[in-house]
Amino acid sequence: MRNLALFFLLFTCCGLLLAQGNLKALVGGTLIDGYGSAPIQNSVILIEGERIKAVGTVGTLEVPEGADVISTEGMSVLPGLWDMHVHTMINGHADYAYWDKTYPPLLKDVIMPASAHQLLMAGVTSARDLGGPLDESLAVRDAINKGELPGATLYVSGPFIQHAPYPGTEAFRWGVNGAEDGRRKIRRLAEAGVDFIKLVDQDQMTMEELRAVVEEAHKNGLKVVAHGHRPEEIRRGLEVGVDCFEHTGLSSAPRYPEDVMEMIRERTAQMNLGPLFWCPTVEGLYNYEYVRDNPEKLDNDSWHLGLPDSVIADIRQSIEHPDRLPYFQLTPSRRPTLKTKIRQLLDAGVVLLVGTDSGIPMKFHSQSTWNELDVWVNEFGIDPMYAIRAATYWPALWTGVADEVGTITPGKYADIIAVDGDVLRYVSLLQDVDLVIKRGRQYK
Ligand SMILES: [Zn+2]
Repeated sequence: MRNLALFFLLFTCCGLLLAQGNLKALVGGTLIDGYGSAPIQNSVILIEGERIKAVGTVGTLEVPEGADVISTEGMSVLPGLWDMHVHTMINGHADYAYWDKTYPPLLKDVIMPASAHQLLMAGVTSARDLGGPLDESLAVRDAINKGELPGATLYVSGPFIQHAPYPGTEAFRWGVNGAEDGRRKIRRLAEAGVDFIKLVDQDQMTMEELRAVVEEAHKNGLKVVAHGHRPEEIRRGLEVGVDCFEHTGLSSAPRYPEDVMEMIRERTAQMNLGPLFWCPTVEGLYNYEYVRDNPEKLDNDSWHLGLPDSVIADIRQSIEHPDRLPYFQLTPSRRPTLKTKIRQLLDAGVVLLVGTDSGIPMKFHSQSTWNELDVWVNEFGIDPMYAIRAATYWPALWTGVADEVGTITPGKYADIIAVDGDVLRYVSLLQDVDLVIKRGRQYK
């Protein structure tokens, strides 16, 4: 009998705690809601469970009694960031051939979860994972969505689709041998449940194969993300209607050729097709020489989160000599092309998305995303509100989840970050996000 009473007491207490913990109020900060209009001063955001219940201001929106109040005074409050180009299967190690041989057994349980967790702690609540082994990608995505792992919400492509896998990469790169083979592989990915298709080297496929892949993807409701490294990749991608281009090119050619620009303008004029999206991934290249000469940031231990000491040591020794990495030798010649090409794309009416190639040598998931915003704003002169929307509103729209995330709007998931100071004036404040809430749960 006494036990029963105790049980009810506990039950009631827990119930009360739950009710209180269920309602949060972010009070006082300047809200950038993701739509692009002037920020809302002295904002109040009510969060109930996983979702945003109401948005208003101090004085117009009352904070209900019992709500868990989090002061955002002095802070910028904004939607959780998106990074539209990450590689959770890599963690900054400089030697891909070695990594691909050594770490496949750890990808699902260690490497990919660590990447997703690091992204989240950096304020990245959603990310597009562009290329990885199929089962592992799906398992990590689903475990995060079920709340079993802390991490950014992932949207995954599974394996790269390309002409032929590079030797030793067959586990996460699928070659296409003929149109029918292409269709079959896309159907397999669709049935497995990937979120979109990642296409690379499409200039090496036959047009028949390329058309089949994109058609089959679209038939199955999957968008196609394609590399835009080489002019011919862009030409072909535009011809078959891919849905987003990545990167700005590996060569040192100073700008996009005029015929390519003509095709891009032709495409952006067709509003019935929606905007033309492009994820230029510039920061890793743009900042290479800076990091090479100022490697202190590589010692920041934010990228150790979730990784065993042995893996940390392994990554660290691989980047001990940033100046010697083959990956970056041409980068100084490419650097000046980045600003020119970004300008060309913007002038042609392309909508840019924030993405970073996070995971490539020396580029850690804990640091990449804010650097991309910083380069856009402080080096290329892009409006900070444009940059923030390229990391919030537009990515959610592209992904087809704009009803659920991407802005701070009642009814949507509470994916919200806050940072001390004014991010519209000093966008690099995003390197140290003070508050991270994903689906209503506070992680930082
Ligand atoms: Zn990439």
